[in-house]
Amino acid sequence: MRASWHERFAESRDVLKSARCEPTIVPVFDFQIGSSEFITMAGPCSVETEFQLMATANHVRRAGARILRGGAFKPRSSPYSFQGHGLEGLRMLARARTESGLAIVTEVVSETDVPLVAEYADILQIGTRNMENDSLLEAAGRSGRPVLLKRGMVATIADFLRSAQLILDQGNPNVILCERGIRTFETATRNTFDASAIALLKQISHLPVIADPSHAAGHRELVPALARIAVAAGADGLLVEVHPNPDKAWSDGEQSLDFAGFDAMMDSLEPWLDARRTEQEQREGCGSEKMEAAG
Ligand code: PEP
Ligand code: MN
Repeated sequence: MRASWHERFAESRDVLKSARCEPTIVPVFDFQIGSSEFITMAGPCSVETEFQLMATANHVRRAGARILRGGAFKPRSSPYSFQGHGLEGLRMLARARTESGLAIVTEVVSETDVPLVAEYADILQIGTRNMENDSLLEAAGRSGRPVLLKRGMVATIADFLRSAQLILDQGNPNVILCERGIRTFETATRNTFDASAIALLKQISHLPVIADPSHAAGHRELVPALARIAVAAGADGLLVEVHPNPDKAWSDGEQSLDFAGFDAMMDSLEPWLDARRTEQEQREGCGSEKMEAAG
């Protein structure tokens, strides 16, 4: 990593790569985020009904997802929109975990809810609207759970890394960075997917980086292409919205994939993941050849 990046992001020194620092690998159940396996987290924007959640969990598991997403506490642009089922939503997520074997990621929106959400979730999600809510970040950091930190919609990479640093400061090393699109002058897409942020974060930080193509695109037909771009940019995984009947979803239906769409997206990632594996093997082969030559 170039020294100039160190200077630029000096305030967040513990999230930066350094000569000593191994990549952070976040353990969840029997798998890891930030290691060789590309991890897909998928599910509805909001937990709506038992049927909706179970059907989605079973489907995305069969298609290769490892983690079920679903909001029980929803921060909405309008206070009159559906705010989530709260505790009942968490209970439904816990039942879906038991039935499907998937781990659970769900959002926590308030500092006081952290202990409750941490009881049910395997990973706590901090949403874009809360990326700079320091007391929430501190509480999530102290929860003992891995934290999936979404980039604020108007946050620079320096702002994003500062928030990650605050979680690490609580003694919690398990932070996953999530690029979910940023606000620009463009309105045709919901946000502008910042692929360069993924490439840069993978260069400068040891933390795992995932992409949320759903909130970036805002339109389901764009989601698979953004997912493939995320793979090419070096992301460690995806967070994707999937719903059995997106046109009837209580939130974010327009950007949610149906089951067939999710399967097609997963299939379309394969050649890109293969190319990445080959490149990785070549790099590792190259490294051992160099070591043999040197030794
Ligand atoms: C979500 O994941 O459903 C969500 C609300 O995301 P964001 O915080 O990125 O808008
Ligand atoms: Mn959503």
